[in-house]
Amino acid sequence: MPSPYRSPLLSRFDWLDHAFMPAGERPPEGTIYNQQRHSARVIRDVEALPVKSQEADGVIGSGLNPVAVYTADCLPILLADTRQQQVAAVHGGLKGVLSGVLINAIQALCARGATPDSLYIAIGPAIGSCCYELGQDMIARAQQDDPQQLAGMLPWSAQAVNNPLAQRAQAQGTTEGVWLDLPLLAQRIARRAGVPQTQIEQAGICTYCMAEEKASYRRNSHCQHGYEQRFSWITKR
Ligand SMILES: [Zn+2]
Repeated sequence: MPSPYRSPLLSRFDWLDHAFMPAGERPPEGTIYNQQRHSARVIRDVEALPVKSQEADGVIGSGLNPVAVYTADCLPILLADTRQQQVAAVHGGLKGVLSGVLINAIQALCARGATPDSLYIAIGPAIGSCCYELGQDMIARAQQDDPQQLAGMLPWSAQAVNNPLAQRAQAQGTTEGVWLDLPLLAQRIARRAGVPQTQIEQAGICTYCMAEEKASYRRNSHCQHGYEQRFSWITKR
């Protein structure tokens, strides 16, 4: 049975607990999460009950119930504010990230007393640039419809990136597109918002070629292995 992944960066704080669960495992009892829609909407835990009654892609937690997102290639991003001891979980696919979901989560935490230098951000297992091919049309669309001025920050390359840590075959190109580094985009967004580089951490685990068997939506669409959602949660103790 695979173990949860815990971020060394977030593990240094004894006032919080968190985990990026293996695909298919349930989060703790009482965990609060939303109906995710690849939107930029971020709400507070108290607005999110009952669970899945709200459509949102980020949730701020200030109580003792964990807040969570579920993903299967998209970014699970967990945030902790050491100033007010509040936390957040963000679901970041390309669409939601470009729409501003991570920016909105950072702003929501700052509206409640955080400052960018009090934020610690862990980006969990997600599809890596080794396996995330996008059609050129997607890049063109992102450059045209760019409400958060992020197009210039898109980290993509024309060639597939070899992953020396791959546990299984990387994704094969199917569209002569480009290869996008979604975790790096999130890191750049957090940097632009003023979060220090040393307070942002990437797990560096590609769901397609490195994580447990059923962790990747895209791998399932290529290889029909099935996929299951990964819950990533964080809570104040
Ligand atoms: Zn990969």
